This record gives sequence, structure tokens and C-alpha cells, in this order.
Amino acid sequence: MNKNISIVEVGPRDGLQNVSHTLTFGQHVKLIKALASSGLHEIEGGSFVRPDKLPSMAHTKDIATYFKGSDLSLWYLVPNQKGLKLALEQGVQKIAFFTAASKTFNEKNIGMNLNESLQIIRSCFDDLKQQGYSFLPHWTDLTNDEKKVKIRLYISTVIACPYQGPLDPSVTLDILEKLKDLPIAQYSLGDTLGVGTPKTWKSLLSLLPQTYLNLNRIAMHCHDTYGCALASIAEGLNYGITTFDSSIGGLGGCPYAPGATGNLATEDLVYFLNKEGFETGVDLEKLLTVFGTETTGTLCNVSKVYQAFS
Ligand code: MG
Repeated sequence: MNKNISIVEVGPRDGLQNVSHTLTFGQHVKLIKALASSGLHEIEGGSFVRPDKLPSMAHTKDIATYFKGSDLSLWYLVPNQKGLKLALEQGVQKIAFFTAASKTFNEKNIGMNLNESLQIIRSCFDDLKQQGYSFLPHWTDLTNDEKKVKIRLYISTVIACPYQGPLDPSVTLDILEKLKDLPIAQYSLGDTLGVGTPKTWKSLLSLLPQTYLNLNRIAMHCHDTYGCALASIAEGLNYGITTFDSSIGGLGGCPYAPGATGNLATEDLVYFLNKEGFETGVDLEKLLTVFGTETTGTLCNVSKVYQAFS
């Protein structure tokens, strides 16, 4: 079993995007730097969505400008070609697109059906290719060549949908099949509601093509609504998954998924992986000081983020 695990810290984007508080630009930068100093180097910095739609992500462009050319290359969520253009103008090299496995969730969350959503992703790839970009696999380090990018795709609601209930794993497989010609470095499979258990994850993971698993093209993105995220991740480790998304302090939720609580907390994930003998490169003690606490566990809630960076 591969003992090196990659953690994608989604707090500064997925986390902040789904809570009511909005950090200032300075606080947002400070949060990202604090996370990076604990050893996290795959961090989501922001989202190139319309600022009026998501005020918490309004200074994403400034974040990208600030970190441009630094040692820290951040991930950014890009919803469409317009967002892609803005991201590329800032020299962004790690780009995340999104869609949902659930038909109804796509319609309610992004106002389009699955095929329309996938078409937008294809259009973005067309734009990138036309502009001479090439695509790196997940495990390859970025270079200073701005014409090289890494692409991640979030597929949310892979376990269940707030409107449709449990999702058949074949829906997620169909999406992978539909996009197999695209150079997507990694798919992040999201249990948006946080209702997954080892058994439900197993029913999905056991169907995934071995090539995807072997090449680190699948990541798990767990929410911890029922406290089953770490157990699910243990199952993922059995299947050879080596990338997991998490959010500092369990920040997050989903406004379109009533009842969904935050993401799996990064400090819990790091604690678990360390104790199980995996290598994450993250210094847990340093991570716990991000919000000024030295207590283990998911104590770093939204108000703590706000206090720590005010
Ligand atoms: Mg999430």
C-alpha cells in the first residue's frame, strides 16, 4: 500500500464558500499562508465565480495575483469559460471544474442538466487547447511554464442527493466514461451530504476502473455529517486511494444540500493518517495552531476562523 498521502485542503474555497462569514482579502491570505506553513501544499485558494453571487469569493482574483509566481501554487474553482479566462489571466495552473452525479442536484445547484454541465467542461478544455496549454498528470510537479496546467474535476453527490436520495454508483461511472478522452488529472468524488459509510463507498470504489485507482486519478471528498468520513477513508485506502480532500476545522457545508454539515476536518484526517502510519507531510501541531488552538479534534469552527483572522 502506498504510504504517501496527498491532502487537498479545501477550507479557503469550499469551506469559506459555504459559510455565512466573509473574510477580508488580508484574512484570506493569512489563512492560506498559515495552512501552507503546516506543510499543506495542495490548497484551494478561491473560486472565479461572479462576485455578486458569492461575496466570500469576491477577492479570488486578488488572491491569485498575490500568490502568482510564489512557491505556493493554489487550486482555483472555475465554473465556466469566463471564469477560466480570468484564472488564466492570473497565471493559474491548477484548475478545478465541477459537476454533480445527481440530475436534480445539477439542475438546482447550477441550473443545468448533466450533459450541459459536461459540455461547459469540454468547452473549457477546447479553450485551453486552443491557447496552447498542455495538461499535467496529478503527480507531476508544476514547472514555471505557465502553459502547463493540472485539471481536477469535482463530481459531487456521488453517494446521495438531497433531492433524489441514494445515487446508483453507475451514474458516476458513466460520467468517467463520458469524459475519458479529456486529460483530467484527478476526479474528486464528493459525498456532498456526508451520508456515506464504508459500505456505500465500497459499492462505488469497487466499480472504478483499476487504471484510475492505480494512477491516483481518484480522490475522495467526504463530509462528516454522521461521523463516518474517516471510516470511509479507511475503506478508500484499501482501494488504493491516495488523495483526500478536507477542510481546516471542518469548515463548509452546502447551501443546496440541506442538512449537510462541513467537510471532513483536516486536523482529524492528519491525526488519523499519522496514527495509521501514512505520510502526509503535514505537521499536526502546526496545523492546530492555525486557529490559535492546540486542542485536537474538530474545534475550529467558523467563529474561530473569524476571530483568528480578524
Ligand atoms: Mg465539500
